[in-house]
Parts: sequence; structure tokens; C-alpha cells
Amino acid sequence: MFQKRKVIDCRWDPSESACTLAVSGTEDEVLQASIEHAVSAHGEKNTPELRNDIRRYLRDEKRKVIDCRWFPSENKCSLAISGSEDEVLNAAVEHAVKSHGEKSTPELRKEIQKLLKEAED
Ligand SMILES: [Zn+2]
Ligand SMILES: [Zn+2]
Repeated sequence: MFQKRKVIDCRWDPSESACTLAVSGTEDEVLQASIEHAVSAHGEKNTPELRNDIRRYLRDEKRKVIDCRWFPSENKCSLAISGSEDEVLNAAVEHAVKSHGEKSTPELRKEIQKLLKEAED
């Protein structure tokens, strides 16, 4: 049976600001790995409650894509970037600044975020 990939990222939990570990895989894999990680790295106790907490944090892993060909530009750029939303956002902001002379501002990031589309797997 097809299983959706799940992802969990310690950065989503503000109390864990120092930890940036992200785990992705099938739900079972991610649950197992994050429980082990929570116990060994965050001093949690391996209880059914911890399992439930972690399960609530899981999100579907959705790959995003952005493609410069959607926005005809002076330099005829045809770069396409795909990956997790964070990866694409970071790379696209960098690319917009370096290749398209944009300024790296929170507004640029928001603009780009609006333009991301779900990638076909
Ligand atoms: Zn962590
Ligand atoms: Zn471009």
C-alpha cells in the first residue's frame, strides 16, 4: 500500500530552538526515529504520550517547485528548483538575489513563497 512520506523537524518546536534535526520517511520510520531522537537528544521519556505528541507534529512531506520560466525575465533564466518548501525558498531567494538583482528581504521571501507550486512526485 502506498504510504505518504511524513516529515518532522525540531525547528517547528520553538522550545527546541537549538536542535535543527529533521527526519523524513514513512510514518512508522519517522515516528520511530523521532522517539529515539527525543529520548537521546531531548531527555524525553519513551511513553505512549510522547508517541502521541510526536504523531501530532508529523506533516506530509510535500515537494515544492519553482521555475524561472514561469516569469519571463530579461536574462531568459530557465532555472527550476525543487525540494522541500524550506530548501526551495532558501535556494530561490539566493538565486533571485544573485541572478535577478533582487534584494533579500522578508517581502521577497513571502513573494516567492506564494509562487511555489506542488511538485509532481
Ligand atoms: Zn531535536
Ligand atoms: Zn532565475
